[in-house]
Amino acid sequence: MKVQNPKLEITAVKLEQYPSMDKPEIALAGRSNVGKSSFINTLIERKGLARTSGQPGKTQTLNFYNMDDKFRFVDVPGYGYAKVSKTDRARWAKMITEYLTNRDNLVTLLLLMDFRHEPTELDIQMKEFADELDIPYAIVLTKVDKIKRSQRNKHISMFTKKLELPTSDALFLFSSETAEGKEDIWEVIESQIN
Ligand code: GDP
Repeated sequence: MKVQNPKLEITAVKLEQYPSMDKPEIALAGRSNVGKSSFINTLIERKGLARTSGQPGKTQTLNFYNMDDKFRFVDVPGYGYAKVSKTDRARWAKMITEYLTNRDNLVTLLLLMDFRHEPTELDIQMKEFADELDIPYAIVLTKVDKIKRSQRNKHISMFTKKLELPTSDALFLFSSETAEGKEDIWEVIESQIN
């Protein structure tokens, strides 16, 4: 798919601020710095739509991006900064739980994880949460360009095992450096929004 006119439609911190459920939504979650902004920008071939972060403590909001009025990407704020206070963490957990449990138009959750490292406790919890809520998900393994080809299978097996997946079918290798995996992800998205 080629997105012509992507727009940040709304930023929200609570339910009352969400846009109407008139379009399918694809939510994106992952720890800070996993490559989420780069992922969105690579998919839609824009440089600066989703701001690349590197800034701990930036405002934690749900960002609703309207893609040509066909669907929305919902950027769920990154998790896992060590410095975040307990109160902020609780607020963050409440915000994403509120979103994930109240959105009938949420068609798929993309869980971004860094291909180089073992999934974190929060990565595993997010996947379990999606299972519990029965939300379809795909796991996007980012920064695959940083791992030698000869090491790939080892990393794929590690993710399959740690996430207790029956097969590796839900794993999608991705790089925003090389755009590897972009077409496969678009196929997943298109199959869900049509
Ligand atoms: P976010 O915090 O999840 O939105 O992460 P960003 O998209 O801002 O990326 C964090 C850092 O990782 C930046 O320095 C990016 O340039 C880098 N990065 C993101 N994706 C990739 C990738 O696929 N390959 C490589 N080599 N670096 C990446």
